[in-house]
Order: sequence, then structure tokens, then C-alpha cells
Amino acid sequence: MYAKFQEYLQKEIANIKADGLYKEERIIESAQGAEIMVKGKKCLNFCANNYLGLAGNPELIEAAKKGMDARGFGMASVRFICGCQDLHKLLEQKIADFFGTEDTILYAACFDANGGVFEPLLGPEDAIISDSLNHASIIDGVRLCKAQRFRYKNADMEDLEAQLQAAKNCRFRLIVTDGVFSMDGNVCPLDKIYELAQKYDAMVMVDESHSAGVVGKTGRGVTERFNLRGQIEILTGTLGKAFGGAMGGFTTGKKEIIDMLRQRSRPYLFSNSMAPGLVAAGCRMFDMMSETNELQDKLHANTEYFIRRMKEEGFDCKPSESAICAVMIYDAAKSQIYAKKMQEQGIFVTGFYYPVVPKGQARIRVQVSAAHKREHLDKCIEAFKTVRTEIEGK
Ligand SMILES: *Cc1c(COP(=O)(O)O)cnc(C)c1O
Repeated sequence: MYAKFQEYLQKEIANIKADGLYKEERIIESAQGAEIMVKGKKCLNFCANNYLGLAGNPELIEAAKKGMDARGFGMASVRFICGCQDLHKLLEQKIADFFGTEDTILYAACFDANGGVFEPLLGPEDAIISDSLNHASIIDGVRLCKAQRFRYKNADMEDLEAQLQAAKNCRFRLIVTDGVFSMDGNVCPLDKIYELAQKYDAMVMVDESHSAGVVGKTGRGVTERFNLRGQIEILTGTLGKAFGGAMGGFTTGKKEIIDMLRQRSRPYLFSNSMAPGLVAAGCRMFDMMSETNELQDKLHANTEYFIRRMKEEGFDCKPSESAICAVMIYDAAKSQIYAKKMQEQGIFVTGFYYPVVPKGQARIRVQVSAAHKREHLDKCIEAFKTVRTEIEGK
């Protein structure tokens, strides 16, 4: 049997390669950070979600070690069978305090939080109205739910209103959006979404994965940015990006919603509890967030500097309110040459092209971090200029 299947897979993989879509993995031989080692060479990393530079933070490493010493390596159980540790409850409370919400439920990852949020809450008589650029995990979560599906064009409020009208006879309506869209770095227009939600009697869910820790004056995410703390029914997020970069996910919001998820959310009921070391480090991380905004300030200054300097050098950068900076190249093949040549210059960035972004909208995505020093940013900008000269001859 396997011979036939093997032949089929080999052909499919050859097709992926022929289309230039085969994903090669880079092997990092160091800890994650602004500077990493690849093939024995020091490189600057501009494609991690390490927005606050916490992935290698010594205090968090220490907290994780202490947490493991005190509470062990793993839980070896799901929570509804074995319960959880005091640390898990503490982390849930700290997340709720950070976002100004009522309660929080932890998951192994935000992919699980999104996978398990819709199906327990909504049924066939309800409507989910989803932004067309929402993350894959939201799309998968919606697929698992029997609610009727409506889709609106990215951040397009006219289209959202049309979809809300189309869903007006449903029992409940839930608008779902990413806080920051990862390809353009644009922030969802939550003020307008909230207004429409009021007008059409809908609830709102925001996935704060790319926005938490980054957006808003103190990094509390899009609800801070739009003065809507405590007003949004459901927020989901990850501990795998700005919040330390290890792993873990959460849903936080209205207490009855969280209560219901504890009863019926399948990735919570049937998947392992977070490891104690990660939970302990997560608690320390939120304490650090409440002590100072130093990292957010550094990140915002770095992002502002990078985009301003790139524009001065004549690069075409999408407007960004996050730490994501899309440097537009437009041509798909050229974007790949750019990324490759940037790597030769010791700069790690990723080139994205169709189907990840619309046709003719290829780009290099640069992700700025609080861990970047001014000289790192300058090196990246210089590399862009060198590569442009090599490619364009100017
Ligand atoms: C990264 C990301 C996720 C997945 O988070 P994990 O914790 O890594 O599973 C979910 N939603 C959005 C919008 C993301 O950017």
C-alpha cells in the first residue's frame, strides 16, 4: 500500500518545489534573540515575534527554573480530571488583570484557544462574522462550529455592516477580528467595529496575538488603543510572541463565557495543562509588565525610527501601528531574491508573496523588537540599501 501513497506524495512535493513554494527551515544554533547564530555565522534576526525581546530574558529563565524546582516538570493530566496548580490560577488572574477582563482560561497555545472558543458557545441559529484576513486558527475554529458564517473584507466597515444586516435574523451575532493583521501590520479599527456591534446587537472577539504587549501606550493591546478596556466580550492571545515567546494560549473575557469554555471547550478538556515552568515564567512576565513600560517604550521608539529611516531612504513601507513593517517589493520573484540577499548580508527577514498576500503585493516583512539596538536597526537599513543597489543598480 505505501508504495502508491509514497509515489503520490513524492509527486505532490515535487509540484510544491516546482511552484517555488517549498518551505526550507533555517537551523538556529543559539538562543532566540536579536543576534542569532546560523551556520556558525552571527546574524541579526528581524523575523521573530520576539517583540519585547523577552525570549532570552534572564529573569524569565530564572523564574521558569524556580517554577520547575517548586512544582515539577509536567502536569501529566488534563485539568478537569486532575485539577491544576495554584500557579495556573494565578497566571489566569494576572492575564485578566492585564487586559481588564473578568476571567481567563489557559490553553496549550492560542491555536487551541481559537480552536475551542466557537463550538461551545454558538449553534446553527447564530452567526459568526469574520474578517477575511483572520488567522488560520480562527478559520479552523469557525469550521468546527455549526454557526452560520459571514465574511467581511479586511477592516472594511461598509462590508462589515452589510454582513451584520445579512445576519440580523440570527439569534446571536459574534464579530471576530485579529487585533493586528500579520501581513500589513495594520490594527483592526476596533472603535468602529464596536460601534457597529452596538448598532446591530452583536458581540466582539479580538485575537490579540500580535497586538498584546505591543499596541497601546502601555502595550495592553487594541482595547487600550481604542479605550475599550473591559468592553469586549472575548479576547484570545498567546504567550508565544511578545509575552516571552515560549508557549501557551488563553481566552479572557466575560466570566460566564470563560465558565462555559471550562465546561465544554475541547482543547481544554482533552489536552494537557501547561507545564509549571512556563506558568511560573508567565506569572513573572506579567509582574514585569505591571512594574514598568520600558520595553514597550523601547519597541515603539525602535519601530518609529526604523520606518522613518526606511522611508527617508526611499523604501515603500506600509503604514504600521504595530511592530510589523511591510517593505513593499510588489514582484514575487524579486521579493525572494531580496530575502536571500538580505540573508547574505547577515539579516534575517522573510519575503511573502501570493497566496499569503494578494497577487502583485509581494513584500519583505520586518519585525522590530525591543531587543534591537540602534546599530542593529541601522545595519538592517544599510543591508536593504546594499541589496537594492545590487538588484536595481541604484
Ligand atoms: C501566532 C498566532 C496564533 C497562534 O498562537 P500560538 O500560541 O503559537 O498557537 C493565533 N492567532 C494569531 C492572530 C496569531 O498571530
